[in-house]
Amino acid sequence: MEFINLKTQYEILKDNINNRIYNVMEKGNFILSEEVAEFEALIADYVDMKYVISCGNGTEALQLIYMAYGIGKGDAVFCPDMTFIASIEPAVMLGAHPVFCDIDLLSYNLNIESLENMVKKTINDGIYIPKAIISVDFLGNPSDIDGIREIAKKYGLLVIEDAAQGMGAINNGRKCCSLGDISATSFFPTKPLGCYGDGGAIFTNDINMKNILSSLRVHGKGKTKYDNVRIGLNSRLDSIQAAILIEKLKVLEQEIEKRQEIAFYYSKRLCEYLCVPEIGNNMRSSFAQYVLMAENEKQKRFIVSYLNDKGIPTLYYYPNPLHKLPVFRNLEYSDDYYTNTIAYCERAFAVPFSPYIKKQEQDEVIDAIEKCFENL
Ligand SMILES: *Cc1c(COP(=O)(O)O)cnc(C)c1O
Repeated sequence: MEFINLKTQYEILKDNINNRIYNVMEKGNFILSEEVAEFEALIADYVDMKYVISCGNGTEALQLIYMAYGIGKGDAVFCPDMTFIASIEPAVMLGAHPVFCDIDLLSYNLNIESLENMVKKTINDGIYIPKAIISVDFLGNPSDIDGIREIAKKYGLLVIEDAAQGMGAINNGRKCCSLGDISATSFFPTKPLGCYGDGGAIFTNDINMKNILSSLRVHGKGKTKYDNVRIGLNSRLDSIQAAILIEKLKVLEQEIEKRQEIAFYYSKRLCEYLCVPEIGNNMRSSFAQYVLMAENEKQKRFIVSYLNDKGIPTLYYYPNPLHKLPVFRNLEYSDDYYTNTIAYCERAFAVPFSPYIKKQEQDEVIDAIEKCFENL
């Protein structure tokens, strides 16, 4: 059994994708071509944002945002303690100070109370100036954007949405990628909308930001490529990836609906044994991953090794809280602030999931977990 089945999707879309790729090669325009412009228009329309700036990957999408807003030395950026390091890494690279916040044990997203406490603590400490909150739609579950906005407004902070896992998710009628002051996403192959390599995008309704970001992604270009007005990056979505994404976007809604059905079936049958994902009212998760939570670490280890012995793969998203990563250890954040994140890491594991997982494979996973509980 595969953890994420990408092959079936390719089998289904093969002719269209191959034609599109072939077309790009025939035309010979590989960078910032009409395919890129076409995809940008389609994805802007899908998430209902005015401007999209596609770029090299999700990490660079975030880096470009941090650069565009001038976030760097002396600034504090607030980030959930449970996310992929790429949410905060580019800010740290630019000299900003990461402040990790605990998560909520139901949604696994940023806990608003912890966020406010950490903002207050940062202000009291008086070393770094609070600048931005990175709001992550973790595992595809939309973050509590209203709660985050309230704190942002109270303390004058920018809200950057990291929707790398949230493409296709909805919060109160609004798509993820449109929930922050500015938003970033990733088209890494295993994300809800993935290409066949690296890719990413930034979403904004601010024409000024759109112009700055368009310049930053091409070496800080001015009116032309060779009258550079700022220091930028080389970060572009290439035409072949854009061509692939145009075809994949056509089936995204259908796939997200399929993800709801599959998650619903898992949850219905597994909720008597384990904590299943809690998706809030008026929310639709994109279920980038389907994560279960055992009662404790020992039980989790038992289930995971039982599943693995049966040839069922599992993964941890993610095995460590950010504050415990070796690279951040020097910041000396106390575990006391992060009890929920620590519990999540001890107890959570992801099982095989994709819009193309077969019913029979789902039943195999469920039956194995049921057996596990007979043996516990
Ligand atoms: C995947 C991911 C990123 C980074 O995207 P890449 O395209 O791999 O650079 C950033 N944040 C989160 C939450 C992610 O899951």
